[in-house]
Amino acid sequence: MTADPLTSSAAPGAEYAGTASAAYRSALEVIESVEPRIAAATRQELADQRDSLKLIASENYASPAVLLTMGTWLSDKYAEGTIGHRFYAACQNVDTVESIAAEHARELFGAPYAYVQPHSGIDANLVAFWAILATRIEAPGLAELGAKHVNDLSEQDWESLRNKLGNQRLLGMSLDTGGHLTHGFRPNISGKMFHQRSYGTDPQTGLIDYSAVAAAAREFKPLILVAGYSAYPRRVNFAKMREIADEVGATLLVDMAHFAGLVAGKVFTGDEDPVPHAHVTTTTTHKSLRGPRGGMVMATEEYAPAVDKGCPMVLGGPLSHVMAAKAVALAEARRPEFQTYAQNVADNAKSLAEGFLKRGANLVTGGTDNHIVLLDVQSFGLTGRQAESALLDAGIVTNRNSIPNDPNGAWYSSGIRFGTPALTTRGFGADEFDRVAELVVEVLNNTTPTQASSGPSKAKYTIADGTAARAHAASADMLAANPLYPGLTL
Ligand SMILES: *Cc1c(COP(=O)(O)O)cnc(C)c1O
Repeated sequence: MTADPLTSSAAPGAEYAGTASAAYRSALEVIESVEPRIAAATRQELADQRDSLKLIASENYASPAVLLTMGTWLSDKYAEGTIGHRFYAACQNVDTVESIAAEHARELFGAPYAYVQPHSGIDANLVAFWAILATRIEAPGLAELGAKHVNDLSEQDWESLRNKLGNQRLLGMSLDTGGHLTHGFRPNISGKMFHQRSYGTDPQTGLIDYSAVAAAAREFKPLILVAGYSAYPRRVNFAKMREIADEVGATLLVDMAHFAGLVAGKVFTGDEDPVPHAHVTTTTTHKSLRGPRGGMVMATEEYAPAVDKGCPMVLGGPLSHVMAAKAVALAEARRPEFQTYAQNVADNAKSLAEGFLKRGANLVTGGTDNHIVLLDVQSFGLTGRQAESALLDAGIVTNRNSIPNDPNGAWYSSGIRFGTPALTTRGFGADEFDRVAELVVEVLNNTTPTQASSGPSKAKYTIADGTAARAHAASADMLAANPLYPGLTL
């Protein structure tokens, strides 16, 4: 497999690695002169990331171009409002930056409208929720009262409209089958704003059962149907989700935070591409999309005007330096190389899954067809917490995750979630991912739960002597052969 052009010295695009080195060395010197501990932690983070197998499904490595774009004086500007319509003076350059980022997003995803201000995925979802509420509840409510603006309403009328806004229904995927906290769960604001119910997956296959989703939608009649996930290892048919939404008069919101890179890279097309089917699509920009940490919303013409008021609805001043970095990352994602990258992410996940299966491990849904592999660690006699810690001892960075009907709950859990976006960026291919599966199985086979005084502990474990060292040595070879930010020396 060819190494990734954005991070490998073997490919075009690496010519700026040396330049980036000089820039980072200077930057760290400046930081050191003010707060040396921050410079040290920043250096150490690169060393740690270089030395570990990063398999956290929501993480990636952004290119030096993306990272450098974030470290500028664009950060110093206030630009509340929207392109060409700001509450502050002298926003001409921010207008340029935001317009270019939005244009790249529209072109890349084929969206009629894109909003690049959200600071994170959770912010993108908040903007989306309130844009949908504004369009479907507030605007008709105002029209009914013959008012143009909320400020024109009497206190009593506003109270009645406000109560309506706060009393709507949302149907999303359940947390333990792979949904996200922001899809209506009570600890998150989405679960306090909405009367929420969730759909799960088929207990036999672990797959989304669209007829069950349709039945739940018919019964519950949500205003918003949310599709999207953070721990579901399969593709979703968004055309079917839209049919269900249309049947019950719901707005379809697709949160593609996790798999936006696979959409951008044209691995998910047709019914699996959410953008043409959803009324509103939200995403992060830092996961498989490989950009700066941030969020984005795309919408149809119907919802665009309300999304465009994300500031002041739920956002303050935009992070102009991050919007600039989003533009750079989206420009990278529009290159043909990104499609190769995205296909490799999916192919590598298959290889990782097959690596587990042929060594007798159990996977939720029995495999993957996206970038996620969800390993059920119960067959190793471990909790997710024990497995996560043992793997970390061996230099394998993952995160524990609940599995459907998890007997250990969300904190200890029974699953480990793996993702291929980050190591694929480093240049790992199918053979390396098979080797990763081998290392993981070896570590878990050599890990035993420790008995606590009050019965079995769900957190403590013992790892057989030499296991961690062997895994470290084996991964060191693969990491050295696929360097992170080659040519970048600090
Ligand atoms: C990661 C994620 C988010 C939240 O993104 P943040 O940038 O961490 O706020 C929202 N939705 C889904 C589906 C996610 O996977």
